[in-house]
Amino acid sequence: MKKLSTAAVQQQTENIIFDTHPEVSIDLSLVKAKLAQEGYQHPFLMLDTAIVRNKARRFKAAMPRVHPHYAAKANPDPRVLKTLIEEGVGFEIASIAELDLLMSLGVPAVEIFYSNPMKSRAYIQYAAEKGVEWYVIDSMEELRKIVSIKPDAKLYLRVDTPNIGSDWPLAGKFGTHLVDVREIIDEAVKLHADLAGVTFHVGSQCRNPQNWRVGIERAKTVFASMREAGLNPRLLNLGGGYPVRYVKPIPAIEIIAEVINEAIADLPETIRIMAEPGRYLVSDSACFVCRVVGTAVRNGKRWMYWDAGIFGGIIEVSEGLRYEILTQRTGSPVPWSIAGPTCDSVDVLMHDEMLPEDIQEDDFIFIPNAGAYTTSYASNFNGFPLPDVVVV
Ligand SMILES: *Cc1c(COP(=O)(O)O)cnc(C)c1O
Repeated sequence: MKKLSTAAVQQQTENIIFDTHPEVSIDLSLVKAKLAQEGYQHPFLMLDTAIVRNKARRFKAAMPRVHPHYAAKANPDPRVLKTLIEEGVGFEIASIAELDLLMSLGVPAVEIFYSNPMKSRAYIQYAAEKGVEWYVIDSMEELRKIVSIKPDAKLYLRVDTPNIGSDWPLAGKFGTHLVDVREIIDEAVKLHADLAGVTFHVGSQCRNPQNWRVGIERAKTVFASMREAGLNPRLLNLGGGYPVRYVKPIPAIEIIAEVINEAIADLPETIRIMAEPGRYLVSDSACFVCRVVGTAVRNGKRWMYWDAGIFGGIIEVSEGLRYEILTQRTGSPVPWSIAGPTCDSVDVLMHDEMLPEDIQEDDFIFIPNAGAYTTSYASNFNGFPLPDVVVV
């Protein structure tokens, strides 16, 4: 298969200079072989669990003190979850459907962290009955809510941290601001709540390792306030955000680990340290395959329409993510606008993407490193089928 986007080729050369740690993506000849053998029905994600396994091992090797808890939302396919269970990875959830799925695969509830800062009463009740012990809070209201349902819950406080250099800044939606921390700690003491940890989230696809250092330094400040108030802090949760390679260069996990390992070095052994990688563990393991429904030239502008768009799983482009896009055509690159198959005006993926001029109806489109936040986001809006996950 030929790589045709010149921008992508240039970028790859740059990546090699920027980052000496190789990233391994799914072997595209496996994807081609599957298409040749079984034909094509509708869009699918082809996933190699060996890559998921290796990413889990690489994460642990880079940060021996940090236990990974996978963010199930990135790709909750049971075969991905099973692979991670085999690797001894724990989990982080946002809903009770995710809890049920993990428990049905044999994950003990104590290994599952409820990291969504806003939980309904019914969901907290359910998780508590199932044996979930750890719950995040980031407000006074959530603290009181959880304590009223499960007085012995182990709680960790999500603090606001800079999201500079993240492709998906989350700061603002969640996270206690430092000015409010003291009040929450005092309330926890008053309620006899076991406020026992600190977490933060640097934003998804974070390409600036310093954000973790800032988060860890803030956590240490909060630990000191907790101890002063008579609490017993014993969990540091470094959250998610570990980046993967798409088009832009990234710091390798080993580079981020240097920053993290140094920042956690002076934390006592009594502090359990975990992280919540989502994208990092699954993205490289899979290639998204879809097909050109048709092309059109309007007012001199080339459009191509794929059978998967914003609603079919390729939604992160709407927030600025740029994927590498491969085809089997060899024509010279020209600017294309690309849209999905639905009639909704938001279903436009990109403009001025340089792709071969001879792309035609029925051509296949291959998007490597698309294992995270694709199939888990897809809907069948307008009657188009959900993409399958095919495991090699
Ligand atoms: C989504 C999420 C993650 C995973 O984020 P990635 O950027 O995929 O690593 C981790 N923790 C929480 C609380 C999340 O909501």
